[in-house]
Amino acid sequence: MNLLHKDPLLILGGGLMGLTIAHELALKGRHIAVLSRRRSEAAGFVAAGMLAPHAEGLDEDLLKLGQLSLDRIPTWVETIESNSGINCGLKRCGIVVPFLNHQERNAYPTVLSGQALNRKELEREIPGIACEWTTGLLFHEDGQIDNRRQLMRALEKACVELGVHFEEGVEVLKLIKNDKDFHGVQIRNAEGNIETFHGNQAVLCSGAWSNQLLKEIPVFPVKGQMLSIQGPKNAFQRIVFGPGTYLVPRDDGLIVVGATSEKEAGFSEGLTPAGQKKLQKGIHSLLPCANAWPHMERWWGFRPCTPDELPIIGSSSLNGLWLATGHYRNGVLLAAITAELLAKCICNEKIKNEESSLLGKFDWSRFND
Ligand SMILES: Cc1cc2nc3c(=O)[nH]c(=O)nc-3n(C[C@H](O)[C@H](O)[C@H](O)COP(=O)(O)OP(=O)(O)OC[C@H]3O[C@@H](n4cnc5c(N)ncnc54)[C@H](O)[C@@H]3O)c2cc1C
Repeated sequence: MNLLHKDPLLILGGGLMGLTIAHELALKGRHIAVLSRRRSEAAGFVAAGMLAPHAEGLDEDLLKLGQLSLDRIPTWVETIESNSGINCGLKRCGIVVPFLNHQERNAYPTVLSGQALNRKELEREIPGIACEWTTGLLFHEDGQIDNRRQLMRALEKACVELGVHFEEGVEVLKLIKNDKDFHGVQIRNAEGNIETFHGNQAVLCSGAWSNQLLKEIPVFPVKGQMLSIQGPKNAFQRIVFGPGTYLVPRDDGLIVVGATSEKEAGFSEGLTPAGQKKLQKGIHSLLPCANAWPHMERWWGFRPCTPDELPIIGSSSLNGLWLATGHYRNGVLLAAITAELLAKCICNEKIKNEESSLLGKFDWSRFND
């Protein structure tokens, strides 16, 4: 394999985490090679792109990590846009979570971060919202990024501009290691030939497939089906985050509708009638008029989940191998902070005490009891 530089740091998986970390490390002057099996299967191309630590009702350490990332996102996006020349579609549009009654609203984990809305205010924020929703919370700081059409493309371009080397169609078959150290990878190249590549530093960020390369990290897939509809431009501005279904309005009137959450589906590919029906029902329960709007596209993908639904970020049991996986429902939100902290660890840079103790909560070893 011709990796241009003799000893690049290997990024195992060219999805959202892989690209973000490659970009961050390339900014620090590191030589990077991204080994990517299939860009189109990355959840980074599937996600709705919500930046929603409050609307998702995250709590404790994950909420803290999400808030830290949300703070960094404007600068992170600015850097990607300036390195790529591509707009990422960041919008701090706010997210509305509707509720059937005040009790439900007041029990929401992030209630204190939101502005309470009565029915009239709810209607003003989301014209046409179904009448059973009597109250809501508006989270002003939450927003969205157009990962599917813009961010992923921008990250790829920014990486190329910074000299990151891409090997597309390359599947990592196994890690080469002894008890303590990472030594490289065995791969199947785009022509189907098996090759060995020796190296002493890598980041394992193979999304829902990460466990196939390293058994000690218990990452598994949670399938999500999505669809999009074309609404009138400016039908509504805020994201609506209902129980089980959300509607994400892009600037051009496209509304991204998500998502099923299918733990039992494993890696089974494709759309299902039941999944699509669930989304259709969800649209009706939130915004009945939207059921008449034309359907544009349908797609699916696999969220990388862990048993405690928290990401795995940091070192591994092998010297030289780093981990960034298991971001489950919040990978777009957490990409900025994950790349920043992991790149600092890899480059031996100082991390603030508070961030370092937070990072400790996402260490893989929590599963090692
Ligand atoms: C339906 C759905 C909706 C979502 N909505 C949101 C949202 O609104 N907000 C949010 O923050 N997050 C959302 N997410 C989550 C987010 O998309 C993920 O957390 C994030 O994309 C994970 O990034 P990743 O790089 O770990 O995995 P991926 O983006 O899936 O990338 C993994 C890559 O690794 C490659 N790979 C795997 N195995 C190998 C191998 N052996 N060799 C080489 N390459 C390999 C794959 O080809 C893939 O390209 C959503 C996810 C889904 C599925």
